[in-house]
Amino acid sequence: MKRLVTVTIETRQVQIIRARRRPSLLWCAVCGTEAEWLTPEQAAPKVGLNPRWLYQQLEAARLPFIETTDGTPLVCLACVAKPRRHTNIETQ
Ligand SMILES: [Zn+2]
Repeated sequence: MKRLVTVTIETRQVQIIRARRRPSLLWCAVCGTEAEWLTPEQAAPKVGLNPRWLYQQLEAARLPFIETTDGTPLVCLACVAKPRRHTNIETQ
């Protein structure tokens, strides 16, 4: 007689994200500099833009971005701050 055995395995993952005192500088191939990479919400006030506009630029692939492990997009602050990208935009 066969016996059915059910094994349940529970796993948990804890991610610890620490704020750094100094921002991380990562190379941006688009502007060719080591730049600060921030979320659209963090970057927008630094350059006087609306975060919503930054998200639109990301969706249209007009701005370089990287994603954190949880899927949060980070934009290159140097690219966001370039004056040539500030045409026809909404400001806060
Ligand atoms: Zn850049």
